[in-house]
Amino acid sequence: MKELPGASLQKACRLLVLFCFLHLSVVFLYYFAGNRFNLQWNPEPAAAAPPRGPAPPHREPLGLKSGNLSKPDADCPDPSPLLVGPLRVEFSHTVNLKDVEAENPEVRGGGRYTPQDCRALQKVAIIIPFRNRDEHLKYWLYYLHPILQRQQLDYGVYVINQAGEETFNRAKLLNIGFTEALKEYDYDCFVFSDVDLIPMDDRNTYKCYSQPRHLSVSMDKFGFRLPYNQYFGGVSALNKEQFQKINGFPNNYWGWGGEDDDIYNRLLFKGMGISRPDGAIGKCRMIRHSRDQKNEPNPQRFNKIAHTKETMNSDGLNSLSYKVVRTDKLPLYTKITVDIGSPKS
Ligand code: BGC
Repeated sequence: MKELPGASLQKACRLLVLFCFLHLSVVFLYYFAGNRFNLQWNPEPAAAAPPRGPAPPHREPLGLKSGNLSKPDADCPDPSPLLVGPLRVEFSHTVNLKDVEAENPEVRGGGRYTPQDCRALQKVAIIIPFRNRDEHLKYWLYYLHPILQRQQLDYGVYVINQAGEETFNRAKLLNIGFTEALKEYDYDCFVFSDVDLIPMDDRNTYKCYSQPRHLSVSMDKFGFRLPYNQYFGGVSALNKEQFQKINGFPNNYWGWGGEDDDIYNRLLFKGMGISRPDGAIGKCRMIRHSRDQKNEPNPQRFNKIAHTKETMNSDGLNSLSYKVVRTDKLPLYTKITVDIGSPKS
């Protein structure tokens, strides 16, 4: 039987309505699923309220969703169930250290913390080379103490303060931090961090791995990528054996630059590789600042980097000399002020 023209029009309309309905359902489905995704992972929520702490209060720890709780007599789970993922990090508010102390009641004198509800997997000394950067240190303490506690690390914070006005020497201060921290506690992992670098995701755990770890892989300063493949600056982690195997860091890089490239060379020459988190988890922010006095770019750095292989066995932990001027056990960190001599000595 032949179909009437009106009937086929009706059929076509029905098909069109059905198609529109399906199309709208798919759009709505994606819209709502997308919103849920954003709520959980948006690294910088648009909320205008000043940040109260690194963990936004609405954020449920990732591991707790699966009921992954710790037990006091057992090893802490890996990864920690307390992690929340991406964090909002900004530097527009003023930090008061008394508030930071009050917000971190479980941090003991000298900046020590040990988890109470499980046995930490690593004992980590965090070493920060320092001179005249108190404002940056406040932000570091404000952001990092809560993160490190959520990472369930048995940790201590050591700020190695270079005394006097001589040219700054980052790597020598790091060697001193390693040596002094070990006098206090049987640390098995050492995280070397610049004072102005803050991680933007607490899944970037400040611990050691089977290979030396580069943690600050995705800095805002470099457009959230590595400036070059061999880059090992900012924040890195080596366990005791890895550090000793390379004779520690060089002592004779005075001024800015090159020492991190020398460390990278040392690791390669001793047959180690670099481990890194992925670019999203390794995001971090640097506090903007002008160049420090007495930390001008070191013109000798290129020549020195070219000779790491010949110098590394005689320049490092085995040639380290310094004097401790004073040690301050402060509520949120241990400050060790040191006389490290001068480029000529
Ligand atoms: C320097 C490094 C520095 C890097 C990124 C290199 O030229 O030698 O010390 O970390 O630039 O700024």
